[in-house]
Amino acid sequence: MSEPSKRPIALAILGPGTVGAQVVRLLAEHADDLAARVGAPLEIVGVYVRDASVARPGIDPALLTDDGAGLVARADVVVELMGGIEPAKSLILAALAGGASVVTANKALLAAHGPELFEAADAAGTDLYFEAAVAGAIPIVRPVRESLAGDQVERILGIVNGTTNYVLDEMTQRGLDYDVALKQAQELGYAEADPTADVEGYDAAAKAAILASLAFHQRVSLDDVYREGISGITAADVIAARESGQVIKLLAIAERANGAVAVRVHPALVPATHPLAGVHGAYNAIFVEATAAGELMFYGKGAGGVPTASAVLGDVVSVARHRASGGRGPRESNYAANAVVPLDAVSTRYAVRMSVPDRPGVLASVADVFAAHGVSIGTVRQIADSGTAGLVISTHRALERDLAATVAELRLADSVVDVVSVLRIEGE
Ligand code: NAP
Repeated sequence: MSEPSKRPIALAILGPGTVGAQVVRLLAEHADDLAARVGAPLEIVGVYVRDASVARPGIDPALLTDDGAGLVARADVVVELMGGIEPAKSLILAALAGGASVVTANKALLAAHGPELFEAADAAGTDLYFEAAVAGAIPIVRPVRESLAGDQVERILGIVNGTTNYVLDEMTQRGLDYDVALKQAQELGYAEADPTADVEGYDAAAKAAILASLAFHQRVSLDDVYREGISGITAADVIAARESGQVIKLLAIAERANGAVAVRVHPALVPATHPLAGVHGAYNAIFVEATAAGELMFYGKGAGGVPTASAVLGDVVSVARHRASGGRGPRESNYAANAVVPLDAVSTRYAVRMSVPDRPGVLASVADVFAAHGVSIGTVRQIADSGTAGLVISTHRALERDLAATVAELRLADSVVDVVSVLRIEGE
């Protein structure tokens, strides 16, 4: 292997946690290969921690420092793997202002403060890379930002949260109740002790905002993303889905519609034949529909220290190459100004599951309520229900606000005992 002759590229690692510790390990294990790929050796000049007196397995104690600002000031490339907003944001801004390139996996920070960070990178003429911020090991940021830069992305449907996919998959495969599946996920380390960020869709919403910004070449903030989690999904919903040939997935959806864009995260019914239905366990997948490329799917491990470190190191190599040989990667592409429409204006298909009195004429009066709001019925299916009759009505494409008005009226109608669940149907 030929020796790179360039001076070493100084790396600062901020946060040697689940991901950071693996990045440090892999940098050491593959030092020669990485140096050959970059054209210069990569040298860790410091690892930022809260308490430098605490030993970290596999990390030279001499590298540990609690002086983040000082470390960032002497780095060529800053790798931020702390998570959270502060001090990550201030340290990244300081790094960029000082001309360093930055690699981060911090989806929460990018979704909340992306514009400020991208502007700082542009002002400094340096790189801000973030492949690991969306779907861990899966290459999706670079494909959308670079490989599809000549195409028009129409829609992205993503399973971008492994915890919720694991919970829903266990409910689907093994008939578990939500609480049991969640507890199991916690015992196996797939879910945090406080699972709110995952199960209520906050994590997926941050990723949806990042993906939508890349796909549509405009800024989409977390506030633009409608969000609904999976905590309301029941074993009965899963059974009803299966009987209709569908599975329930938590989807991050970014789509163009009538010159506008819409971005949302919610549980959805997906046909059992759709590629996303075959994504099991804690795996992630992103299904992209582009005008010229057609349908693409990116699949793999969306989390975990080692897989995520792969994406981080890919970015480190990219930005280090730019430093070794000159130039920089693509700037933020935000020239488009499509309206980002609220959920009300989104149109999709729905499955409305209800219990109704077991008597003649009920179906006709239920159908009248749908018709009164301009929501066209696709299929009607009768299901087993205790004491009453169960109905699942699947609609044709309808506006969310019309469906909401329909459901509100159904809840008050004599011909309906209860509207048990309303789920959107995607991927058809
Ligand atoms: P983690 O295990 O909690 O590690 C965070 C590290 O940052 C720890 O070493 C922690 O130090 C350090 N840190 C936190 N706050 C700090 C502060 N104020 N000052 C100094 N050091 C601080 O987190 P992680 O799971 O590796 O995640 C890191 C980032 O990667 C996050 O942005 C996360 O969203 C993203 N990410 C993670 C995964 C994954 O599978 N874990 C996947 C994709 C993306 P202490 O040890 O002293 O607390």
